[in-house]
This record gives sequence, C-alpha cells and structure tokens, in this order.
Amino acid sequence: MINNPKRVLVLMSDTGGGHRAAAEAIIAAAHERYPGQLEFTMVDVFRHYSPFPFKYSPEIYPLWVNYGARLWGWTYIMSDAPFRSRFVIGSSYFYWRRGIRRLFEEHPSDLILCVHSLFPRPVLRVLQEKMRRPPFITVVTDLVWPHAFWYEKLIDRCLVPTEPAYERGLAYGLKPEQLRLTGLPVHPNFIKRLTSKTEARQQLGIDENLATVLVVSGGEGMGPLYRIASEINRKKLKNLQLLIIAGRNHKLRERLEATDWNQPTTIFGFVDFMPLLMAASDMIVTKAGPATIMESCTAGLPIIISGAIPGQEIGNVEYVVKNEAGVLARGPKAVANTVESWLNEHPEELQRRAANAQKLARPNAVWDIVSEIYEHAQHDSVALPRRQPVLRRLMEYLLP
Ligand code: UDP
Repeated sequence: MINNPKRVLVLMSDTGGGHRAAAEAIIAAAHERYPGQLEFTMVDVFRHYSPFPFKYSPEIYPLWVNYGARLWGWTYIMSDAPFRSRFVIGSSYFYWRRGIRRLFEEHPSDLILCVHSLFPRPVLRVLQEKMRRPPFITVVTDLVWPHAFWYEKLIDRCLVPTEPAYERGLAYGLKPEQLRLTGLPVHPNFIKRLTSKTEARQQLGIDENLATVLVVSGGEGMGPLYRIASEINRKKLKNLQLLIIAGRNHKLRERLEATDWNQPTTIFGFVDFMPLLMAASDMIVTKAGPATIMESCTAGLPIIISGAIPGQEIGNVEYVVKNEAGVLARGPKAVANTVESWLNEHPEELQRRAANAQKLARPNAVWDIVSEIYEHAQHDSVALPRRQPVLRRLMEYLLP
C-alpha cells in the first residue's frame, strides 16, 4: 500500500532554460523511480511571488544578458562573496518577505527543493520565522563557478555538479555533511531515448547521410546566434545540414525562417525533444550554458562554444576545453571556421572529442538527486531555535 505522497515544492524561475530543465529532469526521474510517492509543485518564484520589478525577471534576464552583458558580469562578480551576497539579498529582503510568506501559505510541503541561486537565502529567512520548517535541498545548476548566493548556510543539503562547485561550497562556509557532489541533473530521456543517428534523423525527417550541426543558444536564443548561422551559411559547405533552435526568441525564429539557406536547414522554436535533436547531430554549437553542455556530454556530442554569459558561464568554457570535449570559438566567423575544419578533419578526431565529452557526463546524477529528495522527504520537519531579538537577527542576516 502506498502512503500519501510526500509533497515537494520546487522553487525555480524561467530566467534562462536551465532551471526549468533541471526541475523537469528531477521530476521525471522521481516519477519513474518512486511512482506515486512524491508529488511535485513547481513554482516560478519571481513570476508569481515577487514584487515589481523582480516579477519581470524572466523577461528582464535575457534582455540584460543580451544587451548589457558587461554590466551583468560586473554585477555577478561584485556580489559573489559571502558578505556581499548576503548584503544584496538582505537589502531587498523586507521587500520580498510578504510574497514568500504567501508562497508557503498557498503551497504547504514536506520538502523544499530549490534550483535557483537567488531563492535559498530569502526563503530560509522567512522560514526561520516558524517553529518548524520542511527540509530544504538545493540543486546547484551552475557548473563550475556557482555564485555565493547558492551556498546558504541554513540549507540541509546542497547537491553540486562538479568538483570546483564542491570546493566553492566548502570555501563559502558549508560543512562537508551539507554538500554532495552528484553532477548536474540531466533528463533521463537523454540516456533512454538516445537512438542511433540514422533513426533520429529518420524521425526528424532530415537527410540520413549529411553531417549534422545543431546550433542553439540556451532556452532564450541569446547572443549572436543569427550571425553564427549566417557565417556557417556563407561557407556553402557541402555534405552539411543545419538544425537551428531559436528557443523562446520569436523574432530570431522569424528572421531565421526568412533566410535563404545554402544547405538543408531546419529551424525550430522552443523544442521539447532536445534528446532527439542531439541524437541526430554530429556536433553542437552552443553558448556555455551548463544544462546544454552536460546534455551534450551525455549524448556524446563534441561542443563548439560560441560564447559565455559573463560571470556564471565563464568557468564552463575552461571545463569543456581543458577536458578536450570541445573548443571555444570567439565570434561567428571563428565558429564557422571551426565547423568547417571539424567537418574536414579525420572522423577519428571528432570521435575522440565525442568520447571526451561522454567522459564528463554523470548519467547517475539525476538518480542520486531523486534518492536524496526521497530520503529527506521522509524526515521530520526541522525544529528551529527560538527567535532572537530583532537587532541580533538583522546582524546575523547581514553578516557572514
Ligand atoms: N532547451 C530546450 N528547448 C529549446 C532550447 C533549450 O529544452 O528549444 C533546454 C536545453 O536542452 C537546456 C536548457 O534549455 O536544458 C538551456 O539551459 P542552459 O543552462 O544551457 O542555458 P540557459 O538557457 O539557462 O542560459
């Protein structure tokens, strides 16, 4: 007999595609491993429980990163230290507090799972107002250089994707018993539904025999994706076909669809069949998004990195390049030149890169994460110490 399912509240936001991808991967794996035993509610905290202007973060984020990348990078680096990160969140906490209280009134839960760096601290501070709170787990979705925001000392478990992310956790004051290196969660379909290239190409209705290059730039179709595709197009390469994903960037999709292509080219908007597209491809051109990188590694796809969001994605470039799973090509022309040279080199070279990419994959990550969630959801709620005087709480909140 199955008891009442444990309720898991997932805190995320559609700022980029990676947070939702991680949450969906975990939920799919949990339903498979613990059918009927865990019930998930996924909430976009910015969109539904944050005041102006934070509630527009899903819209503001791609604009900021696209048009103000330097400022974004500067803000990221300047706030990335224990004291400064606390100060940033602390100074806006009173503004957020009411929405977060409403979140917990509307969504009581047995466990809180957070896949977004900005939520652990304010959410846990609100929970501290109670006598007891549910266990709180974070799954860090930045690969190599996660921001200090992630490493909130009050969390019960912090599951990280790489060794450098683990080391950062220790450096930022988490205890080893709070941290676990699991890997980044990748949807089980990247392992189960990876068909042969031929089968995948048949399913997509594209040529089975042409070398296939997948071009993507995160869930939002950020950066110079159009110029990259145009530079590849200009080369008029023989024996090549392109699969281009514009993601949620509708203008980009329209522009791509209005272009005359010199090789077979298929344009997609936001797709929910990325495993199939990766299975059909011989290489991927992508910005250094953590989810896309780890999915490519799982699919054994060599990676041409076309750029990185300053701050959180810079370390990902080194991670891929150092492990020879791919290269960094700075600028659209360099990307097109790399595609050309990879197509012209001995096929063994591409296979070597594909094998290196696969070595970085952690296909068990999502399963280890759902085991942690299942186990902690069975725990009693966490008893909290009696409330401290206001001044003491304020100091504790702001100071590392
Ligand atoms: N993605 C998707 N459909 C699309 C475009 C992207 O499912 O049409 C997924 C992609 O597979 C990955 C995520 O969106 O899981 C993008 O995350 P990443 O960390 O690479 O970049 P972000 O969008 O967060 O900057």
